[in-house]
This record gives sequence, structure tokens and C-alpha cells, in this order.
Amino acid sequence: MSLNSAIEELREQFDRDIQNVRNGGVDTEQIRVKYLGRKGLVAGLFSGMGNIPAADRPAAGQALNALKTYLAEELNKLQRDFSAGKEDVPADLDYTLPGDPFPKGSIHPITQIMEEIKDIFHHLGFSVAYGPEIDTDFYNFEALNFPPNHPARDMQDTFYSGDAVLRTHTSNTQIHHMMDSDPPVKILAPGRVFRHEDISVRSYCLFHQVEGLFVDKTVTMANLKGDLDYFARSLFGKAVKTRFRPSFFPFTEPSAEMDVSCIFCGGKGCNICKYAGWLEILGCGMVDPEVFKSVKYDPSVWQGYAFGMGVERIAMLKFGVEDIRLFFEGDVRFLRQF
Ligand SMILES: [Zn+2]
Repeated sequence: MSLNSAIEELREQFDRDIQNVRNGGVDTEQIRVKYLGRKGLVAGLFSGMGNIPAADRPAAGQALNALKTYLAEELNKLQRDFSAGKEDVPADLDYTLPGDPFPKGSIHPITQIMEEIKDIFHHLGFSVAYGPEIDTDFYNFEALNFPPNHPARDMQDTFYSGDAVLRTHTSNTQIHHMMDSDPPVKILAPGRVFRHEDISVRSYCLFHQVEGLFVDKTVTMANLKGDLDYFARSLFGKAVKTRFRPSFFPFTEPSAEMDVSCIFCGGKGCNICKYAGWLEILGCGMVDPEVFKSVKYDPSVWQGYAFGMGVERIAMLKFGVEDIRLFFEGDVRFLRQF
């Protein structure tokens, strides 16, 4: 049998074997060893070169090398097809390249602002207290001087179920804390609160509050104004001015709302402050003696101030976010920006 016909025969046999591999009968590596191994069929043909007349050897060598290249290429192609099918790994994948970066999460903007608020009041000597999100009417309303059927309850639309309420403010934490401990008290009460409100750009059925309560024998409105002024300047910058407007809350007397000079226009007037030059930030006041009575503190001995703010409102101002719903939707394209 001439070398050429031997090559031809081997190539046909190889093509049949490759077909078997594709049909799942044989392993690619077995075929590689059978043909291209050190003692494989191609090596066998090379060892027969000695019997070929010297003049024909170069042509024979070329033909054998071509065969070898053909087999190697076919086997590589087969290998590629297999790994692509099995694991979707591209054949030209470079395993030495660095991997894709694993994205780290970031702190939610609401949490960031809450931490910042806590930090500022920590400097003023406040510690942090937590209370239940599901509570009774007593802790959420009655002890805070909202008697049953009092019209002030209409100020806050509440989720009720029997006697249980989803707290409408974190003030319930203050009642729990005062009932559990003797004065003086200096606590910050952060947490989630719930309102039965239509969801819109400006309002959501849940949001976050930070409330503060300072009870001691000589706490006055001057302490309240000084501390909240310090807070506003720490949060929004030293140039910020504050003002207090009279207001009403059942649990404080007198009550006030605190505004800061608009952080966008510096007080000149713009879209965001509706050309007033001021932005409403929080509600506050001196603790109503009725609240002290319900937690068995003697109002002739103890006085205190309280304040409360919506964290979303402050986050919207600080970060320039115009839609409150974005804070709750968990869209990473939004959250990644903080
Ligand atoms: Zn403005």
C-alpha cells in the first residue's frame, strides 16, 4: 500500500471517529491519543519513512505534515464546539485575565441621612432609643394628649386593626422610654412610621422620622432653639439661618415649626422654596404637661422639649431628589448614585 493511500485511509477513518465523538460515543482525548499520540497512527506512518526512496521523502514528509495539521485542527475545532455547547466558555477565553469587578453595595440614602442626624445629636448628648412599629392606641395617641375622638387625630391618617395601630410617628418610643425610666431623659427616636395616605411624588404610606426628647429640670425654649440651630448648621452648612413659626401639636405647648433659609438660593427665592426663601424642616415645642402626667412625671418639677422631622424630606432637599417614591422602589440605577 502506497503512503498516499495509507494517508487517505487514515483520514477517512479519522473522519468517521470524529463523527462518533460528535454523536457522543467517544471522548475527544481518546481520538487525539489514537492519532496524534507518541505511539499513535500518524507517528506510525512517520516511522515508515525509512522505507521510502530518498528522492520521494520530501514530498512524503509534506503529505504527512499536512495530515497531522488537518487532524490537529479538526480536534481543536471539536473541542471548541464541545466546550461552547457545554459551558458557554469561549474557546479564546484567557483565564489569566483579571475577573469582572464584584460590585459593592452602598448605604441607602435614607440610612445615610439618619446616621448623619444621629451623629449630630450624639454631639449634643442624645442617646438613641427604639420602639415598636406596631403599637396600641395608648402609646401612639392617648398618652401624647390625643384623647379619643379628638379632632387632632385627623391630622394623621392611621392604619388600624382592632386596638393595634401602625405607629404614625416615633413619639410612641418616647412614651415607652419615659414609662420605663426616670428623668432626666435625652433620647433620639429614629424609625419607620406609617400613614394611610395616597402615594404620590410628595407622600408615601411609610417614611422615616427622627424625633428627639430632652427632659430635665431647667430645659427651656432657648435650649430647643439653640440645639436645633446647631443641628441645622451642622447638616446644611454654617451659612444656614433658622426661624421658628408658631404651630400646633397636641403633645407640645407652645409648638413651633422650624424653617431653614433655602439651601438652594440662599434665601433669595427660587422654585424649590416657592420664592419664600425658607424651607420647612421640622416641628418642635415644649412637652405638654399632659404628656408628663400620662407617663407619671411631675410637670411641676420636669420640663422638656421635643422635636420631630421626616428623614425623606431632608434627604430630598440634601440630594435634590424630587420624587419620594424613588427611596422605596429599590432601583439600583437610583441607589448607585449615593
Ligand atoms: Zn430657594
